[in-house]
Amino acid sequence: MKAEKNDRDLYLVLVNKQNRIPENWTDKVELVPASNCDGEEFLVEKETLCALDKLKADFLKEGVKIEIDSSYRSIEKQQRIWEWDLENRGEEYTRLYVALAGYSEHHTGLAVDIFVDKNGTRVYRDKDGNNYFRPLIHPRIASYGFILRYPEGKEEITGYAYEPWHLRYVGSPALAAEITEKGLTLEEYLEGKK
Ligand SMILES: [Zn+2]
Repeated sequence: MKAEKNDRDLYLVLVNKQNRIPENWTDKVELVPASNCDGEEFLVEKETLCALDKLKADFLKEGVKIEIDSSYRSIEKQQRIWEWDLENRGEEYTRLYVALAGYSEHHTGLAVDIFVDKNGTRVYRDKDGNNYFRPLIHPRIASYGFILRYPEGKEEITGYAYEPWHLRYVGSPALAAEITEKGLTLEEYLEGKK
């Protein structure tokens, strides 16, 4: 079964360090191919990609080139990432930034890591000599249906350090705006709905 208009709850799935990706998830959503300026290929949930493409096009009109750095990952791929980071970046970094296989939001296809292509250099953070994410990109992502999934100051709730590059599609601009304006994480929003 693919995502249908009346199945909007799919877009609110919670995957974090305590909640594993639901069984047979990839039977429930439609993943479609996408690529970036370097020719790297990704799979992204169909509606998420459509929203991202609109965001990218609008920023491009203003001279800001946003590209995909990562999106859907299989459980096997996440396992390889975990092992690589543990080996190369150490345990502290890995526990802060990398999810265990099965517990990454990237398994949903609803999350995208983005970067700004600045004359061929990849920019991921607020600073790095530029000021893209916090002042320019973050205030506008909700109007495309995205939230900043790992905001600064919410590390205890999300379980992750601030990730300015990780956007999560929640199914509608109205909902993304509500979550953002209330200053909530997805965890807090879903808890409040119970
Ligand atoms: Zn990410």
